[in-house]
Amino acid sequence: MTNDIWAKVLKTLQGALGTNNFSNWIEPLEFAQLAGGVATFHVPTNFIGNYVSQNFGEEIIYHLNKEGESVSRLQFRVPTNAQVATKPKAAIKPTGSEDISGSPLDARFTFDTFVVGKPNELAHAAARRVAEGGPVTFNPLFLYGGVGLGKTHLMHAIAHELKERSPELNVLYLSAEQFMYRFITALRERKMMDFKQLFRSVDVLMVDDVQFIGGKDSTQEEFFHTFNALVDGRKQIIISADRAPGEIKDLEERIKSRLQCGLVVDLHPTDYELRLGILQSKVEVYSAQYPDLQISQGVLEFLAHRISTNVRVLEGALTRLFAFASLVGREITLELTQDCLSDVLKASDRKVTVEEIQRKVSEHYNIRLSDMIGPKRVRNYARPRQIAMYLAKQMTSRSLPEIGRRFGGRDHTTVMHGVKRIEELKALDSQIADDLELLRRALQE
Ligand code: ADP
Ligand code: MG
Repeated sequence: MTNDIWAKVLKTLQGALGTNNFSNWIEPLEFAQLAGGVATFHVPTNFIGNYVSQNFGEEIIYHLNKEGESVSRLQFRVPTNAQVATKPKAAIKPTGSEDISGSPLDARFTFDTFVVGKPNELAHAAARRVAEGGPVTFNPLFLYGGVGLGKTHLMHAIAHELKERSPELNVLYLSAEQFMYRFITALRERKMMDFKQLFRSVDVLMVDDVQFIGGKDSTQEEFFHTFNALVDGRKQIIISADRAPGEIKDLEERIKSRLQCGLVVDLHPTDYELRLGILQSKVEVYSAQYPDLQISQGVLEFLAHRISTNVRVLEGALTRLFAFASLVGREITLELTQDCLSDVLKASDRKVTVEEIQRKVSEHYNIRLSDMIGPKRVRNYARPRQIAMYLAKQMTSRSLPEIGRRFGGRDHTTVMHGVKRIEELKALDSQIADDLELLRRALQE
């Protein structure tokens, strides 16, 4: 990308974000480079980088792509003196003293800063176990869950811990996107032998967001071989994805089944207690940064109740709140919170309708909407119908008779029966439990 294009995007951003936001947050950015779909910017402080990433990241990516640049991710770095003076070179920075470089590890993503609650306790326990090193008991460890639920955080925590306990181990962490980028580079530069050698010589391989390689056939193929070679050599592999192995689109069957061979654990959507716990632990960090600002328990509870999408959004809200209060020099009250976060709160407020549920469920089971609502009682239609009724009861505030009316005028006892049936099946049939989870997530997006 040329500086001209960035200058153009800057102009657009100034219009889109307003002069204040622009001069506070965007002007301090200095474009450094674009490689492998990742645009890197130099920032004066990490705080600015985080803030921009959380609040304006998507907008920046959108405008860059609109100008014809293919950018999928932004990266912010506080340059060292050397980097300011000369042009930055490698896109991939070494993560430690070892000779293999992966994606950079975030120093804040440790076990110490990971708040454990019911929704993530299993994933956390499994991650801890792997981080202890020792003989490989399950391979791979496959962590999955919706965005912003802590997959990357846990993986970085494992890497930090392993490096600390056993500095001699070669721990390689990288995103699936990086894996592909490096694979393609090796192909282009005719360095496949080096590539294979490199990946087969690690002791622990961690690949984040593996769903990314779905549909990318030659990358999948190479990933499969790397994977097998490492498993055969009894090396630990840790994988994350936004969904279960079987649900990843356009992923070869043999890879799916390989990924299921170890321990598959999911991070469930957060609950209120976990969100409050996370907010409390983040506040401690902010209190050090903004010694003059206080935030009451009431405001935290309000946020934990109202922002239930994911932890990233929750954190972003808190960052923004502190930054805003500090900029305008006001106390963090409930009113200020509502003012400052009105857009986030509105987005989290999104109510799911019975009609949306019916549409999603019929798409999921590949039946027609009319058959779901219609009178047919064959199992193929009846089961999805009951699932939709169950979700309608759970996710909307509609009463049983109201739900019945929306399902072709059925009686409320029919709805009640359907809801009960799914409750029973959920405990017995893991496929149904998974389907419900998947649908619920899709509906909440
Ligand atoms: P994912 O990779 O699942 O999309 P991340 O690991 O990037 O999510 O998490 C998003 C943000 O939320 C990160 O800043 C992370 O530190 C934070 N986060 C997620 N879960 C927790 C948790 N249990 N405790 C503390 N912070 C968390
Ligand atoms: Mg992640």
